[in-house]
Amino acid sequence: MTVGNPLSKKLIRELNGTRKRLSEVCEDLGIDYEELLESGDLGIAQCTHCSTWSTKLIPDLDDNPICRFCVDLVGM
Ligand SMILES: [Zn+2]
Repeated sequence: MTVGNPLSKKLIRELNGTRKRLSEVCEDLGIDYEELLESGDLGIAQCTHCSTWSTKLIPDLDDNPICRFCVDLVGM
């Protein structure tokens, strides 16, 4: 995971553990949403199951990124 995007730290702090919409957080932080998407790696992603943002998602058997909570809940 690259940490090349200077916006990532801010974003991660804002998103981690929440289910906020990325576009809304961008607006709050004054980040250009389109530009952010084009920049690629955010350093954080949303759980496929519960939509919670996490930097520590684990791929399940179908290769979908899921959070630890869901790993415990649904198992692998
Ligand atoms: Zn989850």
